[in-house]
Amino acid sequence: MRQSTLFVKTSKNLPKDEISESARLLLRAGFADKLMAGVYTLLPLGFKVFKKIEQIIREEMESIGGQEIFMPALQPKENWEKTGRWQSLDILFRLSAGESREIALGPTHEEIVTPLAGRFIKSYRDLPFAVFHIQNKFRNEKRAKSGLLRGREFVMKDLYSFHADQADLDGYYEKAKLSYRRIFSRCGLGDCTYLTYASGGSFSKYSHEFQTVSPAGEDLIYLCPKCSVAVNKEIIADVKHSCPQCGQKDLIEEKAIEVGNIFQLGSKFSTAFGLKFSNEQGENRPVLMGCYGIGLQRLLATVIETHHDQKGMIWPAAIAPAAVHLLALNLENEDAKKSAEKLYRDLRTARIEVLFDDRIGLSAAKNSQKPICSACLAGSWPARALWPRASWRSRKDRTIKQTFWRRRI
Ligand code: ATP
Ligand code: MG
Repeated sequence: MRQSTLFVKTSKNLPKDEISESARLLLRAGFADKLMAGVYTLLPLGFKVFKKIEQIIREEMESIGGQEIFMPALQPKENWEKTGRWQSLDILFRLSAGESREIALGPTHEEIVTPLAGRFIKSYRDLPFAVFHIQNKFRNEKRAKSGLLRGREFVMKDLYSFHADQADLDGYYEKAKLSYRRIFSRCGLGDCTYLTYASGGSFSKYSHEFQTVSPAGEDLIYLCPKCSVAVNKEIIADVKHSCPQCGQKDLIEEKAIEVGNIFQLGSKFSTAFGLKFSNEQGENRPVLMGCYGIGLQRLLATVIETHHDQKGMIWPAAIAPAAVHLLALNLENEDAKKSAEKLYRDLRTARIEVLFDDRIGLSAAKNSQKPICSACLAGSWPARALWPRASWRSRKDRTIKQTFWRRRI
C-alpha cells in the first residue's frame, strides 16, 4: 500500500473531549475517527489491525470447534421480555419501529441464540456444539469516556456452547480458557493479562474475566503473584481477600481492563426459552450453556495502552497494519527513488505486507543530498533494509535485531 494514495492524513487536532490515550494515538495517526462519544470509524490502517485481531480470534474459536454464524442486531422485544431483560437491562437500546412495535438493538445474543439452537436440538445426539459470531453490539454506556475501550457501538466475538451435562460444559469451558490465553498472547498481551475470578451469578460459583493490567483500566483486580491469577473487586470480599487457588493473602491491587469474559450460564437461558433435549433414557432435560465474549475494539485499544511510547503506537508484529513500513525520505533524489521503488516491488512480489511512505517532500531528509531509503518493521525503529535482510532496533528494549525473510514466491 502506498501512503501517498491514502485518503486519510495524520492529524494534530484532537477532539477536546478525547481523554483516552489509546484513542488519542489512534486519532492522531489517522487510524480511527470519532463520530460521537463511544462511536468511532476505523480508517484503513486501523481496520487492517482490527481484521488481523479478528482473524486470530476466528482461528482460535474454530480450533475449539466453534462454527461461525452471523446473527442480526435488530431483535424482537418478545425475546427480551422472556428473560425479563427488556425492563432490567439499563444499557439496552429500545427502538420504536412503527406505531405498535418496539425492537431492541442487540447488546448481546443469548436471547437470539437460545431459541435458534432450540430449532435444531431434539435429543442428546444433537449435543454438544458451539457457535460464534463476530458482530456489532449496541450498549447505551453511561460512561463512554474511555475511547475505543468502551464503545456504544462495538464489535464483539461471542461464542455460545450447548451441552447435555455439567461435566461436558466444564470440559469445554477449560478448553475455551486455553483458547482465550492463546488469543491474548498472539495479540501481544500474554504477559500482562490475567485469568480473573469474577462472580458467577446464581448458576455457577465463578465466572472468569481476562484482565489486562493497565493504568487505563476502569476495573480493580487483586493479583496472586504465585498463581498468576487474580480476583475482581466484586468478589474480593467473598473470597476473604485471598487467592481462590492457593489461599495466599498478599494480593496486589492493580488497575486493569476487562478484555474478555467467559461464563457458565447453566440452564438460565434454556429455562427461559424451554430449550430441552431428551436424554438416553428418553427424559427431557434442560440444555446447559456457556457464553464467551471478547470486545474487538477494546482489545485493539488495550494493545495500544500497553504498547506505546512518546513517539506513538508500537504494534506487536502479528497485528501490525503491515510487516514493513518502507520510508523513502528523499524521493527528489533519483537513486533513493529507484532503490525504494525496487524494494517496494520486491517485498510485494514476495507477498510481504508493506506500507510504502512514498510521499514527496518528507522533511526528515530534505536537506540531505544522500539517498535515504529505510524500512521499519512492526515494533521497531527505522533501520537499514537490505532485502531480504533487515537490521532493526527494538523500540521496547532498544536492542538491535536482524530479520531474514525467506522468499515466499
Ligand atoms: P464492562 O464491565 O466493561 O462494562 P461487561 O462485563 O458488561 O463489560 P460483557 O457483557 O462481559 O461486558 O462483554 C464481553 C466482552 O465484550 C467484555 O469482556 C469486553 O471485552 C467487551 N465489551 C463489553 N462492553 C464493551 C464496550 N462498551 N465497548 C467495547 N467492548 C466491550
Ligand atoms: Mg464482563
